[in-house]
Amino acid sequence: MSNVFPRDTRISPPVAVRGEGCYLIDSEGKRYFDGSGGAAVSCLGHGDAGVTAAIKDQLDRLAFAHTSFFTSEPAEALAELLIQHAPGDLSRVYFVSGGSEAVEAALKLARQYYVEIDQPERSRIIARRQSYHGNTLGALATGGNEWRRAQFGPLLLDVSHIAPCYEYRFKAEKETAHEYGQRAAQELEDEILRLGPDTVMAFVAEPVVGATLGAVPAVEGYFKRIREICDRYGVLLILDEVMCGMGRTGYLYACEADGVAPDILCIAKGLGAGYQPIGAMLCSGAIYDAIASGSGFFQHGHTYIGHPVATAAGLAVVRALLDRGLVAGVTSLGEKLDDALRSLLGQHPHVGDIRGRGLFRGIELVENRETKAPFDPSQKIAAKLKKAAMEAGLICYPMSGTIDGQKGDHILLAPPFIMTDDH
Ligand code: PLP
Repeated sequence: MSNVFPRDTRISPPVAVRGEGCYLIDSEGKRYFDGSGGAAVSCLGHGDAGVTAAIKDQLDRLAFAHTSFFTSEPAEALAELLIQHAPGDLSRVYFVSGGSEAVEAALKLARQYYVEIDQPERSRIIARRQSYHGNTLGALATGGNEWRRAQFGPLLLDVSHIAPCYEYRFKAEKETAHEYGQRAAQELEDEILRLGPDTVMAFVAEPVVGATLGAVPAVEGYFKRIREICDRYGVLLILDEVMCGMGRTGYLYACEADGVAPDILCIAKGLGAGYQPIGAMLCSGAIYDAIASGSGFFQHGHTYIGHPVATAAGLAVVRALLDRGLVAGVTSLGEKLDDALRSLLGQHPHVGDIRGRGLFRGIELVENRETKAPFDPSQKIAAKLKKAAMEAGLICYPMSGTIDGQKGDHILLAPPFIMTDDH
């Protein structure tokens, strides 16, 4: 009997004992191709000698120094590297231990920013339905994943949710993709006006929606319009790249493809690549300066922020991504994966859509291709697919999301950037 409290008490998962490149190996010796990096974590694959050596080296020198007393060499070096490549005015990095923590820090920083610049009436958050921003209470309230939120409703902040930019489901036939994107973005302006512009603090969105929709990028022009609307009303734009960032879409920062820079950006999964738990929140110079020249103290913090071993791992990961040309290779590998998926599944009667960017691909499953009707939830398609894939030696990430009230199923693929054509 296991004493571990598992995610799902209904299944007994195999015991993972080794990781080798693109493969995970269980205690029975069975090999699994890691086609989703868990949930878009393992961008470098498993057993990367460079990252392991960097972690060991840091452990030999310094495991921990609390950030209320010290900074550390790897945290400084990683922040410098992240900022060197960051879009817009992002110029400071706050390290945390994962994605939810990055989102919580972003929300609190946005709030404190408005308090510091004497606009304390700004506290409202607008986000999007069918989004996921984490499981802690602030992040969960911000996300629009109904299934994850359902039973915690009484504990959640009152966040406004507008529609996501989801071309396959919501673009009208008579519209161009661009027109649809402008219409979808208009919902943000309408909601800001409805709430009262002076009360709105931030808009939060994933540039490419991961777990809840299955790798759905916005259409061209959507985020540019979102940026304009935020600027017009003084609303901070927080982009959550916890899943889609760190090269996954072919750009170190996913928002580069949309030609926008946020005021605050959250990253996590690919930053530690699974070697250490780490996330980060990057913020603009203007936000940082407001705190620095105001109270001088960000009213936040956890014991393990800026952890030396975690930041040493992150530094080794980002160096590997850039110096080994791995991010540069993601676009062409992603195109090959997309071609392969289309030739295998493009005509499948239950595949409604194949989409994504780089090595971040989604397959939407439907009962009926013509009407786009999803499967009945009682069929538990995602759970069956996950089980069947594991039996066949493949880790992929099938999920049931919600499509405005209805359940819908998709499979997310996020393989390691070290994969080759053979894989
Ligand atoms: N934001 C996004 C977009 C995510 O996909 C996730 C996790 O899947 C999170 C936040 C939360 O990250 P974590 O699970 O590391 O807390």
